[in-house]
Amino acid sequence: MKRSNSEKLYKKALEYFPGGVNSPVRAFKAVEGAPLFIKKGKGPYIWDEDENQFIDFCCSFGPLILGHAHPDVHKNIVDNLSNGTTFGAPTKLESELAEIIISRNPYIDKIRFVSSGTEAVMSGVRLARGFTGRNKILKFEGCYHGHVDSLMVNAGSGLVTFGESSSAGIPEDVVADTIVIPLNDVNALEIAFEKYAHELACVIIEPIPANNGLLLQEKSFLLKLREMCTEHNVLLFFDEVISGFRVAFSGAAEYYDITPDIVSYGKIIGGGLPVGAYGAKKHIMQSVSPDGPVYQAGTLSGNPVAMAAGIAQLNICSKPGFYEDQEMRTKTMVESVNSYAKEKGYDFKLVTIGSIFWIAFADDTTIRSASQINTDMTPFKKLHKALLERSVYVGPSGYEVGFVSQVHTKEVLENAAQQFKNALDEVFG
Ligand code: PMP
Repeated sequence: MKRSNSEKLYKKALEYFPGGVNSPVRAFKAVEGAPLFIKKGKGPYIWDEDENQFIDFCCSFGPLILGHAHPDVHKNIVDNLSNGTTFGAPTKLESELAEIIISRNPYIDKIRFVSSGTEAVMSGVRLARGFTGRNKILKFEGCYHGHVDSLMVNAGSGLVTFGESSSAGIPEDVVADTIVIPLNDVNALEIAFEKYAHELACVIIEPIPANNGLLLQEKSFLLKLREMCTEHNVLLFFDEVISGFRVAFSGAAEYYDITPDIVSYGKIIGGGLPVGAYGAKKHIMQSVSPDGPVYQAGTLSGNPVAMAAGIAQLNICSKPGFYEDQEMRTKTMVESVNSYAKEKGYDFKLVTIGSIFWIAFADDTTIRSASQINTDMTPFKKLHKALLERSVYVGPSGYEVGFVSQVHTKEVLENAAQQFKNALDEVFG
């Protein structure tokens, strides 16, 4: 596979950006070679600057549930673009997007648009603290919630710990109110609540943890969490930046039929443009400025061009059968690859939910917490290379998940499954 143009562009980018990139995972640190510089995308495919074509399972890490350059999304962006890009004043597009969401979503009455998932979570946590008057937050080891200072924490060594900051530049004081426990562990949850419930503003969780592998939780665990939050007046915060509009229109809340108190969205909501959002029931959202004392603002919040992209995308996602079809196509590919791996005796499986899948070098045991993950990334590195050589692009880290879009048709996915099988033969051969 020719990579010389990407290599040249990478060299240039290294002069301008830390690691040559504007977001770390793009840097191919965990896999071989220079990052591929992408020239264009159409449908399920991307092309790099060396004219290599790939089936794209990264899909920009989740937003592109309709694939690249979907005609409806493109048209609505262009139609609105000619009216100007931003006004610092309300437009009807914001309410149009909000209506599409809220009319189908029983979990939130009001929403506030922001410009990224990080901003959505950060603002949601502030709201939880402002609304409850409490400071502590409980999070789970292996859940990523954007680069919010107070949530950039690793678990310590115990079952229930005050996290240690996982990035330089975050003072210990800033994470002093963040408690970390393992996922899917009722015992740890009970201990944490016993000690801290009266001080907790919220428990924040990716109900479908998808940033450190795909750590599917038992529904009974999520239900227990809901029950304990209700009992102790602690807000349950679902970070649905990945799962929102992905596993069902109203995300994991709908998928599992569990009602959160605060929700954050991102990715799909913006149709590939920078949009995030947080929402809650009216009595909670009343605390947000200018109605209430929790300040939060944004020059480009509710940007009309981004709203237009989101409107077009969510109009399609809200059609009957959309999510069932997504799930069915994904499952067919996953099952085909998995039965092949099993037949061959490879310690490998694709873990899946909805139209998300995760490449795991593991046996049959269900992986539900960070500590269960095989941290040897050597086989992933080999597989990544073997897949690229077979025209399949997955995110350049074994902890990232893959995404299937509406335009990853049955035929495209059959081809992808075959390439996975061939690549696995190379890795294990
Ligand atoms: N929360 C979750 C669950 C995420 O997956 C991400 C991003 N991958 C974020 C928050 C942060 O979103 P953004 O990158 O748009 O800031």
